[in-house]
Amino acid sequence: MILILLLWPLGIVPVMAAANGLIDQRLSIQLFPEEHRLEGRAVLTPADSNSELPEMFRLAVGADIDAVTTDGKPTDFTFDKGLLQIPPGSEVSNLTISYRVRFDDPVPQDFVGIEDPSFGIAATIMPQGSFLSDNSGWHPLPVDRQSRFHVTIIGPPGLYGVTAGRLVELDSSATRSQTIWQTRLPQSSLALAAGYYQVKREDLGEIQLLAFTSVENAALAADYLESCREYMQLYQALFGPYPYAKFAVVENFYPTGYGLPGWTLLGSSVIRLPFIRTTSLPHEIAHAWWGNAIEIDYQSGNWGEGLATYVADYYLQELYAPAEAFEYRRKILRDYATLVEAGDDLPLTDFRSRMTKRDQAVGYGKAAMVFHMLRKLIGDEAFWQGLQATARDGLGKHFAWSDLRRHFEAASAMDLSVFFRQWTRRAGAPQLRLADVSVIPVDAGWQVSGSILQEEPVYDLAVPLRLETATHKHDQTFDLAGSQKPFVFTVNARPISLTVDPESNLFRKLYPEELPATVNNLRASKAPLVVVSTGSEALLGASRDLLRGLQWHQAPVMSEEDYLRQQPPGRDLLMLGWPKSLDLRPILPAGFTAAANQFSIGDKTYAEAQDVLFMVMASHEDHHVTGYFLPGSLAASRDTARRIPHYGRYSYLVFRVGSNQVKATWETEHSPLKILFEKEPIP
Ligand SMILES: [Zn+2]
Repeated sequence: MILILLLWPLGIVPVMAAANGLIDQRLSIQLFPEEHRLEGRAVLTPADSNSELPEMFRLAVGADIDAVTTDGKPTDFTFDKGLLQIPPGSEVSNLTISYRVRFDDPVPQDFVGIEDPSFGIAATIMPQGSFLSDNSGWHPLPVDRQSRFHVTIIGPPGLYGVTAGRLVELDSSATRSQTIWQTRLPQSSLALAAGYYQVKREDLGEIQLLAFTSVENAALAADYLESCREYMQLYQALFGPYPYAKFAVVENFYPTGYGLPGWTLLGSSVIRLPFIRTTSLPHEIAHAWWGNAIEIDYQSGNWGEGLATYVADYYLQELYAPAEAFEYRRKILRDYATLVEAGDDLPLTDFRSRMTKRDQAVGYGKAAMVFHMLRKLIGDEAFWQGLQATARDGLGKHFAWSDLRRHFEAASAMDLSVFFRQWTRRAGAPQLRLADVSVIPVDAGWQVSGSILQEEPVYDLAVPLRLETATHKHDQTFDLAGSQKPFVFTVNARPISLTVDPESNLFRKLYPEELPATVNNLRASKAPLVVVSTGSEALLGASRDLLRGLQWHQAPVMSEEDYLRQQPPGRDLLMLGWPKSLDLRPILPAGFTAAANQFSIGDKTYAEAQDVLFMVMASHEDHHVTGYFLPGSLAASRDTARRIPHYGRYSYLVFRVGSNQVKATWETEHSPLKILFEKEPIP
């Protein structure tokens, strides 16, 4: 999953530019990668006769300002703590600011275990590449005003810069290179990336599709542009016209996955991952509407991630692989139940951006399910119409959840106040229960009745129930507005099972019995303990990246012998290596075998030194899990350790030479919301 950069210049929440406040900015930036610095010149003019030039600007705190001139004459200014002020009042037709800034935020040597998706880098200029975020103050930001930008980026030969807007010019001579961009929509600030790129370009009508890649990854550009074309067409049909002049896929020299207005910045290692083209790319293209052109009123909650997740990561599954879409909804519910603790939950109106797995489970996962439930409630036609109206009306504005509600209400002619209030302003999820379920023979066959219950605070829900017989599925939906709702099914064949929400269309709190043990349980552990199996002592050092990736680097470590002696209760365990003691070995499910140097799943046996099995199982203690890291060799463990934490939703994983072979989740058959009648006596 990918984040979208917050559009808060230097921590200030932008206020919409006054109608007469639009500015034209011509920025000219020369990059000196070897020296980690830039020299910039910004020429500002009013965009129309009603505009006046601003008098206050934000610029990087460390900037040196060489000169400020108004209508060509030097003028006084003050520059303190990143705030540049010029004397007020005079009627000026242009203002020029010349400045120099050094940007050298350190780039980590190693990214394993860092959960902050920016890696703490706001701006850095380096020979390997440059990235200047929109909140780093690399160009003067008029306070509370928006601009149309004309940006010229100059650098050594072969170095091209990318920012928002249409590509106007790109060329390189023996002495220097130049890239020019022009934006059309007003923006508060810009981000910029630069590197020694190969450039590939296609057009889709008026829209430029561009790829800026390294030489090593240039062969990927054609496929990326083909996918851009496909998603752009799909989303224009669903949301209306694409709001920008271009969409560019741009490579970064460290592993980002940023969505920016009209472009995405993907790390060199990220861009090579085969699934990015069908997951992150459509997600970023969707953000062009949701979060970029229609900006987010962050103070009332970031709805953009949930919507991009829903229309891209989720909806594409629904279009192309419906079974996967069902699985995706279940994963959202599992992630929420695993990663969000009751005391640590937050309402969607308090979600700003993804800083932790918990934030992601709420701001991306729960929010995506809210859009799903909304679509079920108002129907497809009203849902897509509501989004189109939101896109039309929201262009260039900051929208809150309440603005979305307004457009969905208009499109559906329904009052959605209860729906939005309970799902966006309240933390948590409903927990449902079945009670008093009985089956009695009646003249026509069988009658199944009972009640659906929910805890306080109650939600207003449409709860689907499915009664199955040997030949039929009988579906009914019951409106549950209070704490209880009776239901009755009458069927002419013997009932086999009754299931609440069989398709997982509701966002609800899963029961522990419904949750398979997964890597995420280890990650969320509050009481981790590493146990080193006897004979596997060397594995501890080789597991360092695994422990960091799971956020277990502070976890206590015990030898197998010590653990057996003390058996500290209430712990989640990670066993490194095959335990010598039979008591510590896993009770494997059917189809699995494992021993010191080999394992098998189904009819496939893994006995190579390069094979690794990682699995997480429910512990004999309630609510705890045990992970088993079983590599065929130390070399294999080093190759694999850092990869495992990326597979948070899975219960067991097989790797060979560091590449994933198997990823799967234990089946959970037991749920208090599914009743099997065969096991119950029917009178
Ligand atoms: Zn996103």
